[in-house]
Amino acid sequence: MLNAALLKSFLESQLPAALEILQRMVEINSYTANREGVNRLGRLTVDSFASLGFAAEFVPCTNSGFGDHLVLTRLGHSTRNVALISHLDTVFPPEEEQRNHFHWHRVGDRIYGPGTQDIKGGTVMVWLVLSALREHASELFEETTWKVLCNAAEERFAPDFGDVCRKHLKADTLAALVFEAEGRLGEEHLLVVARKGRAEWKLTVEGRGAHAGGKHNHGANAIVQIAKTIERIAALTDYRRDITFNVGTVSGGTVLNRVPHEAVAKGEFRAFTSEAYQQGKAALLTLTGAGEVRSAADGYSSQVKVELTSETRPWLRNSTSDDLLEIWKQAGVDLGIAVGCEERGGLSDGNLIWDVVPTIDGLGPWGDNDHCSERSADGSKLPEFVDVSSFVPKAMLNVAAILKLLEKT
Ligand SMILES: [Zn+2]
Repeated sequence: MLNAALLKSFLESQLPAALEILQRMVEINSYTANREGVNRLGRLTVDSFASLGFAAEFVPCTNSGFGDHLVLTRLGHSTRNVALISHLDTVFPPEEEQRNHFHWHRVGDRIYGPGTQDIKGGTVMVWLVLSALREHASELFEETTWKVLCNAAEERFAPDFGDVCRKHLKADTLAALVFEAEGRLGEEHLLVVARKGRAEWKLTVEGRGAHAGGKHNHGANAIVQIAKTIERIAALTDYRRDITFNVGTVSGGTVLNRVPHEAVAKGEFRAFTSEAYQQGKAALLTLTGAGEVRSAADGYSSQVKVELTSETRPWLRNSTSDDLLEIWKQAGVDLGIAVGCEERGGLSDGNLIWDVVPTIDGLGPWGDNDHCSERSADGSKLPEFVDVSSFVPKAMLNVAAILKLLEKT
């Protein structure tokens, strides 16, 4: 039986060491494209988990511009196994951190810095939780096989990390626990049980170039056509069905005395349900074909092409994630911590594995302003931060829930 008071005092005694690890992690720039930095953070993560008995394996990312994925394993005596998932990269290039003076900075209970919340604070939460399980449930800890998997390029949706998980996780893995930051609704700690799917698209219009003075009627204006097609894409957004299309960039044309022969737009779309996602995708792809902008001289038609350049399917609301949520809720009842859930718009590694292994997300500490590095004088803009006081209660909740999960099986 879990002794909550003992667990709490153990976690409080470990918190300074956890924050020391966190500070060292935050001080390493691990922008996704900073391969060397991501790998350095990987090695620090290996060192940090070595004291808990974890062996390391680095797996090169299929994109050679990114760092190595990290798989940490601690083999147990039984067949029971649990996966804990985090990532190494952040969205902040080194120049941006310098320009915005964005670095480890503690003010009272709050620590500002790149990755404090997304997701280095989550990795440190994994370390705290495993330390506490070893101390307070040593038998279960020794019996269980633990896998800590860290994506080198989560912020760029590296799809090969899903393959790494599938290769390293057995089919009977009890749970994939994802340590992205928790949500909050008043006093409620929100865990994540579903996430939107997202696709990136590219729209290309081929027109026909012509002299804007002498042969204007010979041209088929690619910009005029892309403007029409963009309106159609924007109109596919349907807030009631929770599907959004964003036109992100547009370019086209070369000089002013020429009917433009090409124009390109790029964007993304997101949806929560498989149905909305598939319908959105189909509606987008049917825009490929002849455009209505034609040359007045001979009817030459502009050509519209829409393609998906990357695709991450939705993490659908499902019963295995809901079962895990129920366990975390019960643990919350025991500890007097209110636990709720949310379906989140952003993606995580949960999108890659939820249908292979029961998955729950949002198990990290609480913070806010992830993906923001700026601070304004009036405080209306604040950079990413994590709240120190959120670590111990959340670690207690995670430990209690993991014990319930293990005791059930
Ligand atoms: Zn993240």
